[in-house]
Amino acid sequence: MMNPIYIHQKEILKRYKQPDQYTHKGIQGHAIIIGGSYGKMGAVCLSSKACLKTGCGLVTVFIPKCGYDILQIAIPEVMVITDNQEKFISNIIFDITPQAIGIGPGLGLEIETQQAVYKLLQTNKIPLVIDADALNILSKNKEWLPLLQPKTIISPHPKELERLIGKWNSDAEKLEKSITFSKEYNLIIVMKGAPTRIIDGDTIYGNTTGNAALATAGTGDVLTGMITSLLAQSYEPINAAILGVYLHGLTADIALPETGYQSFIASDVITNIGKAFL
Ligand code: AMP
Ligand code: MG
Repeated sequence: MMNPIYIHQKEILKRYKQPDQYTHKGIQGHAIIIGGSYGKMGAVCLSSKACLKTGCGLVTVFIPKCGYDILQIAIPEVMVITDNQEKFISNIIFDITPQAIGIGPGLGLEIETQQAVYKLLQTNKIPLVIDADALNILSKNKEWLPLLQPKTIISPHPKELERLIGKWNSDAEKLEKSITFSKEYNLIIVMKGAPTRIIDGDTIYGNTTGNAALATAGTGDVLTGMITSLLAQSYEPINAAILGVYLHGLTADIALPETGYQSFIASDVITNIGKAFL
C-alpha cells in the first residue's frame, strides 16, 4: 500500500494535453488567485505570474486594497479585484466565473479573513487549490473540512501538514495518516518535501524532479499558481497536481547549472517554466 508510483517523463507525456492551434485566451482557462495581506503581496505576485506562465488564458487576483498598485505594476498581464479592507481580505466576492481557484499565498490569519474563507467554502463548487495560510485557517477550524468539494487539492509543507493531521514518528506513519486524511475528506494531498509525494486515497505518486535549490522563500506559492493554472485548463485534479509538481521540480533541475543551489530563487522557477514544458 505504501509503494509510490514514481512519476517520470513517460507518465507525464501520457497526461499532458497539447494546446489546440486554434485556441484563444477565452478557452484557455480563467483562474483566480486569492491571497495577500500587508507585507505579503509578493506571494500573490509569484503565484499569479506562475499561473499565467503555466498556460492559463486569463488570471485574476483577489487581494486587499494595499496590493492594487503592487500587482498592476509587477504583472501587467494580471487583472485585479480588491477587497474592501486595506490590509487583509475580509469578504471574497467576485463577478467573474473562473474555472479554478487558488487560495492561500500571503493570506494571513485575521479573524475576518478566516470568516471570508468559511463563506467561500460554504458555496464554492469551482475546482480549488488550498495552500499556505488558507490551510492554516482550516487547521484552526477543522470542522470546516467537510465543506470541501471532492478532489480539492491541498498543498501543505511539513509544518502545515502537521497542523492538519497531527505529529508523526516515522515517514510510514506520516503517509498512513495522510492517506487516512485524504480518504476521510476525499482530498488530493500534495505532500511537499524532498521529494514531494501526491496522495489520492490509497494511491501515492512520487515525484522524480526537483532539488534542494527549491528550499527558498516563495517556491510553494509558485507551485500553487502552477497547479491552479492546470486545473483552470480542465486537467483532472490528480493530473493537475502531478503535472504541476513535476514541472515545478524540473525548473530547478534545469536552472541548477546556472544558479547553483545558493542563488536560485522562486522567480527562477517562473523563468524556467517554459523550458520545463519544452
Ligand atoms: P513552501 O514551503 O510552501 O514554500 O514550498 C516549498 C517547495 O519547495 C515545495 O514544492 C517543496 O517540495 C520544494 N522543496 C523545498 N525543499 C526542497 C528540497 N530540499 N528538495 C526538493 N524540493 C524542495
Ligand atoms: Mg508555502
